[in-house]
Amino acid sequence: MDIEKLKYDENGLIPAIIQDAQSKEVLTLAYMNKTSLQKSLETKQTWFFSRSRQELWHKGETSGNTQDIVDITFDCDKDALLVRVNPSGPACHTGEYSCFSGIKNETEEASHNRFAVLEELERVIAKREVERPEGAYTTYLFEKGIDKILKKVGEEASEVIIAAKNRDISELEWETADLFYHVFVMLREQGVGLDRILQVLEKRHHEKSQFARREEN
Ligand code: AMP
Ligand code: ZN
Ligand code: ZN
Ligand code: ZN
Repeated sequence: MDIEKLKYDENGLIPAIIQDAQSKEVLTLAYMNKTSLQKSLETKQTWFFSRSRQELWHKGETSGNTQDIVDITFDCDKDALLVRVNPSGPACHTGEYSCFSGIKNETEEASHNRFAVLEELERVIAKREVERPEGAYTTYLFEKGIDKILKKVGEEASEVIIAAKNRDISELEWETADLFYHVFVMLREQGVGLDRILQVLEKRHHEKSQFARREEN
């Protein structure tokens, strides 16, 4: 990226939207100057320019909540940045996963897509992973670690199989929901976003329809 070609405001700043690369949650809006952008590119972690403190600021320097950069892109007129990150802790100084957590809950109701709850589940798990609220089952799973998570995925898969074998539909619904949840926790632990899985399905779907066409000809 040619940082000289970007448009900075009269104070030499450019707004940067920080987004969780995996869950797609918007985490923070902050400002960068040339120096902080250079530092961000060099260290692959976010550096900002604090307008209130008038100083360069390495996100996580005191809190440990650094953000590992996946990529940085700019908008159509080069006056705004989108920084996709893997956060190692809360983005907000309040300890919340996202600086926009409050607003999210209200707007959530409005979006109505059949699969919206899956996206919401991915976001909630991402939030739990970084905030680790006491008493939450997701916190417990992340604290226990990968072996526990994998054991649960195995158990829930077995329960799904048993329910299906018994043709116990309400049990099947319940256990499939359990399985989905634990698979989502596992994917978060592995750093794999839901969109990556959807891409694989999409790709297979296209390959399959091409294959079907080939068979027809
Ligand atoms: P940190 O960079 O997380 O070590 O936090 C250092 C200081 O930066 C905090 O004490 C806050 O004053 C400020 N800060 C941290 N995160 C944010 C944020 N998302 N938005 C604004 N200020 C922040
Ligand atoms: Zn723009
Ligand atoms: Zn904040
Ligand atoms: Zn179960």
